[in-house]
Amino acid sequence: MKAFGNLRLSVLQRFQRWLFKPFYAGTTLQESEPTVAQLSNYDVFSYLNYAIEDSWHEKEFDKNSQIVQKLLLHAATTKNVPFSVCKATSCGHKHLFQKINAQQPLTDDEKLTHERVINRFRECCKVAKAHDVGLLIDAEEYNMQFAVDQIVMDLMKEFNTSKAVVYNTVQLYLVDGNDRLQQMHSRATTESFHLGLKLVRGAYMQKERKRAQKLSLTSPICKTKSDTDTNFNQAVAYCLDHLSNISILLGSHNEYSMILATEIMKKNKIKSWDERVWFSQLLGMSDHISFILAKKGYNVIKFVPFGPLEKLVPYLTRRAEENTAIAGQSSRELVLLQREIKRRSTVAKAL
Ligand SMILES: Cc1cc2nc3c(=O)[nH]c(=O)nc-3n(C[C@H](O)[C@H](O)[C@H](O)COP(=O)(O)OP(=O)(O)OC[C@H]3O[C@@H](n4cnc5c(N)ncnc54)[C@H](O)[C@@H]3O)c2cc1C
Repeated sequence: MKAFGNLRLSVLQRFQRWLFKPFYAGTTLQESEPTVAQLSNYDVFSYLNYAIEDSWHEKEFDKNSQIVQKLLLHAATTKNVPFSVCKATSCGHKHLFQKINAQQPLTDDEKLTHERVINRFRECCKVAKAHDVGLLIDAEEYNMQFAVDQIVMDLMKEFNTSKAVVYNTVQLYLVDGNDRLQQMHSRATTESFHLGLKLVRGAYMQKERKRAQKLSLTSPICKTKSDTDTNFNQAVAYCLDHLSNISILLGSHNEYSMILATEIMKKNKIKSWDERVWFSQLLGMSDHISFILAKKGYNVIKFVPFGPLEKLVPYLTRRAEENTAIAGQSSRELVLLQREIKRRSTVAKAL
Protein backbone atom coordinates (compact mmCIF):
# COMPACT_ATOMS: atom_id res chain seq x y z
CA MET A 1 0.00 0.00 0.00
CA LYS A 2 2.83 2.35 1.01
CA ALA A 3 4.74 1.44 -2.17
CA PHE A 4 1.65 2.33 -4.20
CA GLY A 5 1.40 5.68 -2.40
CA ASN A 6 5.08 6.43 -3.13
CA LEU A 7 4.58 5.51 -6.77
CA ARG A 8 1.62 7.90 -7.06
CA LEU A 9 3.66 10.68 -5.48
CA SER A 10 6.56 10.17 -7.84
CA VAL A 11 4.22 10.12 -10.89
CA LEU A 12 2.57 13.33 -9.65
CA GLN A 13 5.95 15.03 -9.15
CA ARG A 14 7.10 14.02 -12.63
CA PHE A 15 3.88 15.30 -14.08
CA GLN A 16 4.25 18.64 -12.30
CA ARG A 17 7.83 18.96 -13.51
CA TRP A 18 6.67 18.41 -17.08
CA LEU A 19 3.68 20.73 -16.67
CA PHE A 20 5.62 23.75 -15.46
CA LYS A 21 8.93 22.99 -17.16
CA PRO A 22 8.96 26.05 -19.46
CA PHE A 23 8.37 28.44 -16.56
CA TYR A 24 10.84 27.40 -13.89
CA ALA A 25 14.47 26.41 -13.93
CA GLY A 26 14.51 23.45 -11.57
CA THR A 27 14.43 22.49 -7.95
CA THR A 28 17.92 23.53 -6.94
CA LEU A 29 20.41 26.20 -7.84
CA GLN A 30 22.47 23.58 -9.63
CA GLU A 31 19.46 22.47 -11.68
CA SER A 32 18.90 26.05 -12.78
CA GLU A 33 22.33 26.29 -14.42
CA PRO A 34 21.39 24.79 -17.83
CA THR A 35 18.52 27.31 -18.16
CA VAL A 36 20.87 30.20 -17.43
CA ALA A 37 23.39 28.79 -19.91
CA GLN A 38 20.72 28.27 -22.60
CA LEU A 39 19.49 31.84 -22.25
CA SER A 40 23.02 33.15 -22.44
CA ASN A 41 23.38 31.44 -25.84
CA TYR A 42 20.89 34.06 -27.01
CA ASP A 43 22.66 36.87 -25.13
CA VAL A 44 19.85 36.92 -22.59
CA PHE A 45 20.85 37.34 -18.93
CA SER A 46 19.07 35.80 -15.93
CA TYR A 47 18.14 36.65 -12.38
CA LEU A 48 17.26 33.78 -10.14
CA ASN A 49 14.37 33.84 -7.74
CA TYR A 50 14.04 31.19 -5.06
CA ALA A 51 10.37 30.55 -4.38
CA ILE A 52 9.87 31.70 -0.82
CA GLU A 53 6.31 31.33 0.38
CA ASP A 54 4.73 33.46 3.11
CA SER A 55 6.94 33.64 6.19
CA TRP A 56 5.79 34.46 9.71
CA HIS A 57 8.63 34.01 12.17
CA GLU A 58 11.85 35.88 12.85
CA LYS A 59 13.89 32.73 12.22
CA GLU A 60 12.27 32.30 8.81
CA PHE A 61 13.03 35.94 7.90
CA ASP A 62 16.68 35.42 8.93
CA LYS A 63 16.85 32.30 6.80
CA ASN A 64 15.27 34.08 3.82
CA SER A 65 17.78 36.91 4.04
CA GLN A 66 20.58 34.32 4.05
CA ILE A 67 19.08 32.69 0.95
CA VAL A 68 19.11 36.07 -0.83
CA GLN A 69 22.74 36.62 0.19
CA LYS A 70 23.63 33.14 -1.07
CA LEU A 71 21.95 33.93 -4.39
CA LEU A 72 23.87 37.20 -4.63
CA LEU A 73 27.14 35.32 -4.10
CA HIS A 74 26.08 32.77 -6.68
CA ALA A 75 25.28 35.59 -9.12
CA ALA A 76 28.72 37.09 -8.50
CA THR A 77 30.43 33.87 -9.57
CA THR A 78 28.09 32.95 -12.42
CA LYS A 79 28.35 34.38 -15.91
CA ASN A 80 25.27 36.23 -17.09
CA VAL A 81 23.55 36.68 -13.72
CA PRO A 82 24.02 40.40 -13.00
CA PHE A 83 21.02 40.85 -10.66
CA SER A 84 19.31 39.15 -7.77
CA VAL A 85 15.89 39.74 -6.24
CA CYS A 86 14.26 40.02 -2.84
CA LYS A 87 10.71 40.52 -1.58
CA ALA A 88 10.16 42.80 1.38
CA THR A 89 7.84 40.26 2.98
CA SER A 90 10.62 37.68 2.96
CA CYS A 91 12.59 39.92 5.37
CA GLY A 92 9.76 41.16 7.57
CA HIS A 93 6.15 40.63 8.49
CA LYS A 94 3.59 42.38 6.34
CA HIS A 95 1.61 43.48 9.41
CA LEU A 96 4.61 45.52 10.52
CA PHE A 97 4.90 47.19 7.12
CA GLN A 98 1.17 47.84 7.13
CA LYS A 99 1.32 49.47 10.54
CA ILE A 100 4.14 51.78 9.47
CA ASN A 101 2.29 52.50 6.26
CA ALA A 102 -0.79 53.53 8.22
CA GLN A 103 1.47 55.82 10.29
CA GLN A 104 0.51 54.07 13.51
CA PRO A 105 3.01 54.33 16.37
CA LEU A 106 5.15 51.23 16.95
CA THR A 107 5.62 49.60 20.33
CA ASP A 108 9.21 49.27 21.61
CA ASP A 109 9.22 45.63 20.59
CA GLU A 110 8.01 46.51 17.11
CA LYS A 111 10.71 49.15 16.78
CA LEU A 112 13.32 46.47 17.49
CA THR A 113 11.65 44.13 15.02
CA HIS A 114 11.74 46.89 12.40
CA GLU A 115 15.46 47.41 13.05
CA ARG A 116 16.00 43.71 12.43
CA VAL A 117 14.09 43.94 9.14
CA ILE A 118 16.29 46.82 8.00
CA ASN A 119 19.42 44.93 9.03
CA ARG A 120 18.37 41.89 7.01
CA PHE A 121 18.03 44.10 3.95
CA ARG A 122 21.27 45.87 4.75
CA GLU A 123 23.21 42.58 4.91
CA CYS A 124 21.87 41.72 1.44
CA CYS A 125 22.82 45.16 0.10
CA LYS A 126 26.34 44.84 1.51
CA VAL A 127 26.87 41.57 -0.36
CA ALA A 128 25.33 43.07 -3.52
CA LYS A 129 27.64 46.08 -3.43
CA ALA A 130 30.77 44.09 -2.52
CA HIS A 131 30.23 41.81 -5.52
CA ASP A 132 28.78 44.34 -7.95
CA VAL A 133 25.45 42.53 -8.34
CA GLY A 134 22.23 44.54 -8.65
CA LEU A 135 19.58 43.84 -6.01
CA LEU A 136 15.95 44.29 -7.07
CA ILE A 137 13.35 44.70 -4.33
CA ASP A 138 9.91 43.63 -5.56
CA ALA A 139 6.80 45.75 -5.05
CA GLU A 140 3.89 44.19 -3.24
CA GLU A 141 0.56 45.44 -1.92
CA TYR A 142 -0.37 49.11 -1.69
CA ASN A 143 -1.09 49.11 2.03
CA MET A 144 2.54 48.32 2.84
CA GLN A 145 4.41 49.85 -0.08
CA PHE A 146 5.21 53.26 1.45
CA ALA A 147 6.89 51.51 4.38
CA VAL A 148 8.94 49.40 1.97
CA ASP A 149 9.81 52.44 -0.18
CA GLN A 150 11.13 54.19 2.93
CA ILE A 151 13.53 51.36 3.75
CA VAL A 152 14.68 50.87 0.17
CA MET A 153 15.24 54.60 -0.41
CA ASP A 154 17.39 54.81 2.73
CA LEU A 155 19.38 51.81 1.52
CA MET A 156 19.83 53.41 -1.89
CA LYS A 157 21.26 56.49 -0.20
CA GLU A 158 23.69 54.24 1.66
CA PHE A 159 24.69 51.92 -1.19
CA ASN A 160 23.96 53.69 -4.50
CA THR A 161 26.71 56.26 -4.10
CA SER A 162 28.57 55.77 -7.37
CA LYS A 163 25.97 53.77 -9.31
CA ALA A 164 22.67 51.95 -8.78
CA VAL A 165 23.10 48.69 -6.86
CA VAL A 166 19.79 48.61 -5.00
CA TYR A 167 16.60 48.93 -7.08
CA ASN A 168 13.12 49.74 -5.80
CA THR A 169 10.00 48.76 -7.80
CA VAL A 170 7.35 51.25 -8.92
CA GLN A 171 3.92 49.96 -9.96
CA LEU A 172 2.45 52.18 -12.64
CA TYR A 173 -1.10 50.83 -12.31
CA LEU A 174 -1.18 53.09 -9.26
CA VAL A 175 -2.86 56.40 -9.96
CA ASP A 176 -0.04 58.09 -8.04
CA GLY A 177 2.71 55.91 -9.56
CA ASN A 178 4.42 58.75 -11.44
CA ASP A 179 4.19 61.12 -8.46
CA ARG A 180 5.90 58.54 -6.28
CA LEU A 181 8.57 58.00 -8.90
CA GLN A 182 9.25 61.72 -9.20
CA GLN A 183 9.39 62.13 -5.42
CA MET A 184 11.97 59.34 -5.26
CA HIS A 185 13.93 61.02 -8.03
CA SER A 186 13.78 64.36 -6.31
CA ARG A 187 15.19 62.84 -3.10
CA ALA A 188 17.95 61.04 -5.04
CA THR A 189 18.89 64.32 -6.73
CA THR A 190 18.83 66.39 -3.53
CA GLU A 191 20.76 63.79 -1.54
CA SER A 192 23.15 62.90 -4.39
CA PHE A 193 22.62 59.19 -4.88
CA HIS A 194 21.65 57.03 -7.83
CA LEU A 195 18.06 55.89 -8.14
CA GLY A 196 17.64 52.25 -9.19
CA LEU A 197 14.10 51.46 -10.38
CA LYS A 198 12.26 48.46 -11.68
CA LEU A 199 9.17 49.70 -13.52
CA VAL A 200 6.16 47.37 -13.71
CA ARG A 201 2.46 47.83 -14.30
CA GLY A 202 1.52 45.90 -11.13
CA ALA A 203 0.33 42.42 -10.24
CA TYR A 204 -2.30 42.85 -7.54
CA MET A 205 -5.06 44.75 -9.33
CA GLN A 206 -8.00 42.55 -8.36
CA LYS A 207 -6.88 42.30 -4.75
CA GLU A 208 -6.37 46.07 -4.45
CA ARG A 209 -9.75 46.85 -5.94
CA LYS A 210 -11.51 44.37 -3.68
CA ARG A 211 -9.75 45.72 -0.59
CA ALA A 212 -10.63 49.32 -1.47
CA GLN A 213 -14.25 48.34 -2.07
CA LYS A 214 -14.45 46.42 1.20
CA LEU A 215 -13.06 49.36 3.17
CA SER A 216 -15.06 51.95 1.18
CA LEU A 217 -11.84 53.59 0.04
CA THR A 218 -11.00 55.03 -3.35
CA SER A 219 -9.13 52.37 -5.30
CA PRO A 220 -5.44 53.26 -5.74
CA ILE A 221 -5.51 51.55 -9.15
CA CYS A 222 -6.04 53.36 -12.47
CA LYS A 223 -9.62 53.12 -13.71
CA THR A 224 -8.72 51.68 -17.11
CA LYS A 225 -5.99 49.65 -18.74
CA SER A 226 -5.28 52.53 -21.04
CA ASP A 227 -4.65 54.84 -18.01
CA THR A 228 -2.17 52.28 -16.67
CA ASP A 229 -0.48 52.09 -20.09
CA THR A 230 -0.19 55.89 -20.25
CA ASN A 231 1.27 55.97 -16.73
CA PHE A 232 3.77 53.22 -17.52
CA ASN A 233 4.91 54.79 -20.79
CA GLN A 234 5.24 58.20 -19.10
CA ALA A 235 7.42 56.66 -16.40
CA VAL A 236 9.63 55.01 -19.02
CA ALA A 237 10.05 58.33 -20.86
CA TYR A 238 10.76 60.21 -17.60
CA CYS A 239 13.46 57.77 -16.52
CA LEU A 240 15.08 57.66 -19.95
CA ASP A 241 15.23 61.47 -19.85
CA HIS A 242 17.03 61.39 -16.47
CA LEU A 243 19.60 58.65 -16.83
CA SER A 244 22.27 60.84 -15.28
CA ASN A 245 21.11 59.56 -11.89
CA ILE A 246 18.47 56.92 -12.71
CA SER A 247 18.98 53.29 -13.80
CA ILE A 248 15.98 51.22 -14.86
CA LEU A 249 14.84 47.70 -15.41
CA LEU A 250 11.58 47.49 -17.36
CA GLY A 251 9.60 44.42 -16.23
CA SER A 252 6.96 44.04 -18.90
CA HIS A 253 5.59 41.83 -21.66
CA ASN A 254 3.94 44.72 -23.41
CA GLU A 255 5.35 45.00 -26.93
CA TYR A 256 4.26 48.60 -27.42
CA SER A 257 5.97 49.80 -24.23
CA MET A 258 9.14 47.90 -25.09
CA ILE A 259 9.26 49.36 -28.62
CA LEU A 260 8.52 52.81 -27.25
CA ALA A 261 11.44 52.49 -24.83
CA THR A 262 13.82 51.58 -27.67
CA GLU A 263 12.56 54.55 -29.70
CA ILE A 264 13.12 56.97 -26.83
CA MET A 265 16.59 55.50 -26.36
CA LYS A 266 17.37 56.17 -30.02
CA LYS A 267 15.97 59.69 -29.80
CA ASN A 268 18.02 60.40 -26.64
CA LYS A 269 21.12 58.84 -28.24
CA ILE A 270 21.35 56.19 -25.53
CA LYS A 271 23.35 53.15 -26.66
CA SER A 272 21.33 49.91 -26.69
CA TRP A 273 23.90 48.28 -24.38
CA ASP A 274 23.92 51.17 -21.87
CA GLU A 275 24.23 49.45 -18.48
CA ARG A 276 21.61 51.79 -16.96
CA VAL A 277 18.77 50.29 -19.04
CA TRP A 278 17.52 46.70 -18.81
CA PHE A 279 14.50 44.95 -20.31
CA SER A 280 13.04 42.05 -18.38
CA GLN A 281 10.48 39.30 -18.93
CA LEU A 282 9.51 36.14 -17.06
CA LEU A 283 11.04 32.81 -18.02
CA GLY A 284 8.93 31.10 -20.68
CA MET A 285 6.94 34.23 -21.47
CA SER A 286 7.27 36.80 -24.26
CA ASP A 287 10.43 35.12 -25.51
CA HIS A 288 9.95 36.87 -28.84
CA ILE A 289 10.39 40.23 -27.09
CA SER A 290 13.39 39.06 -25.05
CA PHE A 291 15.25 37.39 -27.91
CA ILE A 292 14.64 40.12 -30.48
CA LEU A 293 15.75 42.87 -28.08
CA ALA A 294 18.84 40.87 -27.11
CA LYS A 295 19.66 40.26 -30.77
CA LYS A 296 19.49 43.99 -31.36
CA GLY A 297 22.02 44.54 -28.59
CA TYR A 298 19.75 45.65 -25.72
CA ASN A 299 20.34 44.40 -22.18
CA VAL A 300 17.73 41.70 -21.59
CA ILE A 301 17.27 39.67 -18.44
CA LYS A 302 14.82 36.90 -17.65
CA PHE A 303 13.25 36.39 -14.24
CA VAL A 304 14.09 32.74 -13.57
CA PRO A 305 12.23 31.08 -10.68
CA PHE A 306 13.49 27.89 -9.08
CA GLY A 307 12.86 25.93 -5.91
CA PRO A 308 11.09 22.87 -4.55
CA LEU A 309 8.02 22.04 -6.60
CA GLU A 310 5.64 22.14 -3.66
CA LYS A 311 6.61 25.80 -3.23
CA LEU A 312 6.61 26.62 -6.94
CA VAL A 313 3.28 25.03 -7.88
CA PRO A 314 1.17 27.46 -5.85
CA TYR A 315 3.33 30.35 -7.12
CA LEU A 316 2.92 29.39 -10.79
CA THR A 317 -0.77 28.57 -10.47
CA ARG A 318 -1.50 31.80 -8.59
CA ARG A 319 0.30 33.81 -11.23
CA ALA A 320 -1.96 32.38 -13.92
CA GLU A 321 -5.08 32.81 -11.78
CA GLU A 322 -4.25 36.40 -10.81
CA ASN A 323 -3.95 37.42 -14.39
CA THR A 324 -6.77 35.69 -16.24
CA ALA A 325 -9.27 38.43 -15.48
CA ILE A 326 -6.89 41.15 -16.59
CA ALA A 327 -6.94 42.79 -19.98
CA GLY A 328 -3.50 42.98 -21.51
CA GLN A 329 -0.87 41.35 -23.62
CA SER A 330 0.56 39.18 -20.89
CA SER A 331 -2.91 38.11 -19.82
CA ARG A 332 -3.52 36.76 -23.31
CA GLU A 333 -0.30 34.87 -22.95
CA LEU A 334 -1.38 33.62 -19.54
CA VAL A 335 -4.69 32.47 -20.95
CA LEU A 336 -2.73 30.49 -23.53
CA LEU A 337 -0.51 29.22 -20.73
CA GLN A 338 -3.55 28.10 -18.74
CA ARG A 339 -4.96 26.40 -21.81
CA GLU A 340 -1.68 24.60 -22.31
CA ILE A 341 -1.63 23.56 -18.64
CA LYS A 342 -5.22 22.34 -18.96
CA ARG A 343 -4.38 20.46 -22.16
CA ARG A 344 -1.40 18.81 -20.49
CA SER A 345 -3.56 17.90 -17.46
CA THR A 346 -6.12 16.25 -19.74
CA VAL A 347 -3.41 14.33 -21.58
CA ALA A 348 -1.91 13.22 -18.27
CA LYS A 349 -5.30 12.06 -16.94
CA ALA A 350 -5.86 10.05 -20.11
CA LEU A 351 -2.52 8.24 -19.71
C1 LIG B 1 10.47 40.93 -14.77
C2 LIG B 1 9.17 41.25 -14.08
C3 LIG B 1 9.18 41.61 -12.75
C4 LIG B 1 7.97 41.93 -12.11
N1 LIG B 1 7.98 42.34 -10.80
C5 LIG B 1 6.82 42.76 -10.22
C6 LIG B 1 6.80 43.31 -8.91
O1 LIG B 1 7.84 43.41 -8.25
N2 LIG B 1 5.62 43.71 -8.38
C7 LIG B 1 4.44 43.63 -9.11
O2 LIG B 1 3.38 44.07 -8.59
N3 LIG B 1 4.43 43.10 -10.32
C8 LIG B 1 5.58 42.65 -10.91
N4 LIG B 1 5.55 42.12 -12.18
C9 LIG B 1 4.25 41.87 -12.84
C10 LIG B 1 3.77 43.12 -13.58
O3 LIG B 1 3.42 44.10 -12.62
C11 LIG B 1 2.55 42.87 -14.46
O4 LIG B 1 1.51 42.30 -13.69
C12 LIG B 1 2.77 41.96 -15.64
O5 LIG B 1 4.06 42.08 -16.16
C13 LIG B 1 1.77 42.32 -16.75
O6 LIG B 1 1.95 43.63 -17.22
P1 LIG B 1 2.74 43.99 -18.58
O7 LIG B 1 3.47 45.26 -18.44
O8 LIG B 1 3.54 42.80 -18.94
O9 LIG B 1 1.70 44.34 -19.72
P2 LIG B 1 0.22 44.12 -20.09
O10 LIG B 1 -0.03 42.68 -20.21
O11 LIG B 1 -0.01 44.99 -21.27
O12 LIG B 1 -0.61 44.74 -18.89
C14 LIG B 1 -1.30 44.01 -17.93
C15 LIG B 1 -1.27 44.86 -16.70
O13 LIG B 1 -2.01 46.10 -16.93
C16 LIG B 1 -2.73 46.47 -15.77
N5 LIG B 1 -4.17 46.43 -16.09
C17 LIG B 1 -4.84 45.47 -16.75
N6 LIG B 1 -6.16 45.74 -16.85
C18 LIG B 1 -6.35 46.93 -16.22
C19 LIG B 1 -7.49 47.75 -15.96
N7 LIG B 1 -8.71 47.39 -16.37
N8 LIG B 1 -7.31 48.89 -15.30
C20 LIG B 1 -6.08 49.28 -14.87
N9 LIG B 1 -4.96 48.55 -15.09
C21 LIG B 1 -5.08 47.39 -15.75
C22 LIG B 1 -2.35 45.46 -14.68
O14 LIG B 1 -1.23 45.96 -13.98
C23 LIG B 1 -1.95 44.24 -15.50
O15 LIG B 1 -1.05 43.37 -14.80
C24 LIG B 1 6.73 41.82 -12.83
C25 LIG B 1 6.76 41.46 -14.17
C26 LIG B 1 7.95 41.17 -14.81
C27 LIG B 1 7.92 40.77 -16.25
